[in-house]
Amino acid sequence: MLSCHAMSNEPTQAEGPPAIIELPGGESITVPLPPGEVPAYAVLPALRALVDAMMQRVKNASAERGETITCRAGCGACCRQYVPVSDMEARALAGLVERMPEDRQARVRARFAEAEARLREAGMWERMTRGGRVLSSEHMELVVNYFFLGIPCPFLEDEACSIHPDRPLICREYLVVSSATHCAKLDRTKIKRLAAPQTSTALHVMDAAHSPDNYNVFPLVAALDWLRGHPDEPERRTAEAWINHFGRAMQARFGDSVEMVTSPPPGASEE
Ligand code: SF4
Repeated sequence: MLSCHAMSNEPTQAEGPPAIIELPGGESITVPLPPGEVPAYAVLPALRALVDAMMQRVKNASAERGETITCRAGCGACCRQYVPVSDMEARALAGLVERMPEDRQARVRARFAEAEARLREAGMWERMTRGGRVLSSEHMELVVNYFFLGIPCPFLEDEACSIHPDRPLICREYLVVSSATHCAKLDRTKIKRLAAPQTSTALHVMDAAHSPDNYNVFPLVAALDWLRGHPDEPERRTAEAWINHFGRAMQARFGDSVEMVTSPPPGASEE
């Protein structure tokens, strides 16, 4: 059984007093933030809300151009692609699995095990889970080879995401306006994706603490294995510090930033 002390005790739902987070471009969202010092993955619900708001802006701009997003429930075409995650999202996903009812947990764990077996059989497991940066040419080869193994995400059920509110940031960024048939064949010349802020990359950079030596990105299907190898208690900081850390990672990579406003929103009760 997977064990991580903080993981099983920390909620992944947004809880805590409300705070305002400013988006690049002037808008802001109000989200609950966990009080006290918490591991980074405890602020993921707030970061997801932030990213959803950013993606909504991308979708609105696309609608104004007359484009129709073709992503919908029941289309799992992109859910057989390589989904990169790092420590923070791996811990959150492993915690999510741990909290599932026993029968569902057994089914999901079996899918993780099947995915690992398929990658090992293909000789790709070690390369994809050893961490560190890879050359972009090698990365592309891995992505393509991974896709053609046809491994479904362990959370894909009836061609729909069974953990939709908790899905990784990269799944939120994948907004397609071309036919799903191109996604199903990974026809990169015909897939038309909306240009969305690469918040998942910022999260990976944040996890690496800006050090190339710590840059560990691996496929979602290796998330449970990652936690088995890293059962240690992760660093704790205030939620505000983590959100600002994410903002700095966005800024370092893309010139964007998010700023935590520490005062409670108007009307929030003060205790
Ligand atoms: S987490 Fe959900 S959206 Fe992301 S690849 Fe898995 S099933 Fe698809």
